[in-house]
Amino acid sequence: MSALETNIEKLAGHLARFKETGIKNRVAGEDRDGSGGVFQTTSPVDKSVICDVAHGTAADIDTATQAAHDAFPAWRDMPATERRRILLNVAEAIEARAEEIALCECWDTGQTWRFMSKAALRGAENFRFFADQVVQARDGQHLKSPTLMNVTSRVPLGPVGVITPWNTPFMLSTWKIAPALAAGCTVVHKPAEDSPLTARLLVEIAEEAGLPKGVLNTVNGFGPDAGKALCEHPKIKAIAFVGESATGSKIVKQGADTHKRNHLELGGKNPVVVFDDADLDRALDAVIFMIYSINGERCTSSSRLLVQDTIKEEFEARLIERVNNIKVGHPLDPATEIGPLVTQEHYNKVTSYFDIAKDDGATIAAGGVKIGDDGYFIRPTLFTNATNDMRIAREEIFGPVLTSIPFATEEEALQAANDTEYGLTGYLWTNDLTRALRMTERMEAGMIWVNSENVRHLPTPFGGVKASGIGRDGGDWSFEFYMEQKHIGFAMGQHKIMQLGNS
Ligand code: NAD
Repeated sequence: MSALETNIEKLAGHLARFKETGIKNRVAGEDRDGSGGVFQTTSPVDKSVICDVAHGTAADIDTATQAAHDAFPAWRDMPATERRRILLNVAEAIEARAEEIALCECWDTGQTWRFMSKAALRGAENFRFFADQVVQARDGQHLKSPTLMNVTSRVPLGPVGVITPWNTPFMLSTWKIAPALAAGCTVVHKPAEDSPLTARLLVEIAEEAGLPKGVLNTVNGFGPDAGKALCEHPKIKAIAFVGESATGSKIVKQGADTHKRNHLELGGKNPVVVFDDADLDRALDAVIFMIYSINGERCTSSSRLLVQDTIKEEFEARLIERVNNIKVGHPLDPATEIGPLVTQEHYNKVTSYFDIAKDDGATIAAGGVKIGDDGYFIRPTLFTNATNDMRIAREEIFGPVLTSIPFATEEEALQAANDTEYGLTGYLWTNDLTRALRMTERMEAGMIWVNSENVRHLPTPFGGVKASGIGRDGGDWSFEFYMEQKHIGFAMGQHKIMQLGNS
């Protein structure tokens, strides 16, 4: 049996129970139907229905929030070492079921086995990393003044909402939920309607690993009702959101009346700038990896290639050859490099840029074609002869589609890199150290890599500027979001207190 056939057989085993019972909401440690009935999740591989999913609405969000509210005091007050032990158990339990998670994720989202098998393990790593921070998370500072011993401490916010998108949903959910739980918050998770499978696995795994009932609750449903209700709920203290920039604006508006704290990780149109003095072999590998891995459905992808005109011809020629060689196929085949796009709607959006590119006067140098009708497959695509004012250079396409734009000088490269509404990541390829220092200082992005693809290191800050988001995750930055700083001042003696009405 081939590796693909083996994976398909294993997947069938994992899906059988979902097909039978559907995916329920999980509230206070119990399965619950959605008050809006059910909706269906389908696979982008062959458009088949995977299973029914509980359709949660505002009423279900309310019940889940109450459960998170009730579970909060005991979780907050649990000794840190015990909370740490439970979160480490969750990490181990994820590792034990990483294959199941990856298979389900591939089938639900079209992501490939090659990447999702690693993403599931990164989910475990997120739990392990934040578990290890639990014991110090509440430590504060002492800031002595002449009259007062001022101390600070951090306390968890309370129940928080986590709203996640469909791209690498398991890993992204753990990236938000693990620090929230480590901080001592309880969580209501509203996963993306297009990828409910692994959100269900996560809550189930966490409970089996010892997470108390009600500490993590999962309500499936759609943004405009379940998601909105979560933002508006007065008992939810903060929303950690990952998704589109336009949705991010709605999150802020919806939470305004209840003074919600928001963390927004939004879209990107990230530049990779390649100068002619760079190691062009490595630059080529990184350029290809950062747009064609994970189906190009990745917020940090470098979707705009800014290439120096002196090397443009040669670099693009090598790029075209490699892009045409990328293997598109069944996501469960370990050899596959690109699987299908996540939904019909997203497929329509991504493929619409084939015509937009032509209308704008760019050249489709590779790809630009759909593959068959059975699933949402396209060839990886490269647009050349583009300028930075074209729609293909300005709008987030969020697929395996790269737009190449030439530049002549460093100033021109910088201007083009920053000429975008987004500011998530930037990538720079040059062996000129002083140029790298100048460029990184002035590039408008939350994260910049020099002579490297995106290599995530958990203690470093993750987040964007401009329309790419507000706030940072990672290391202690995550705790800053999920916890409230508290100041307490102790008088050290009988300092003079102003006496009003005593004259
Ligand atoms: P989306 O904004 O359409 O949906 C994300 C989530 O928000 C879903 O769960 C959806 O149901 C919910 N939602 C929609 N409307 C809502 C509303 N009014 N109130 C509350 N919740 C609502 O995004 P998507 O299409 O699922 O994901 C792709 C986007 O996510 C891309 O723009 C990508 O760049 C971005 N993203 C950003 C990062 C980052 O770290 N910056 C990471 C991954 C993805």
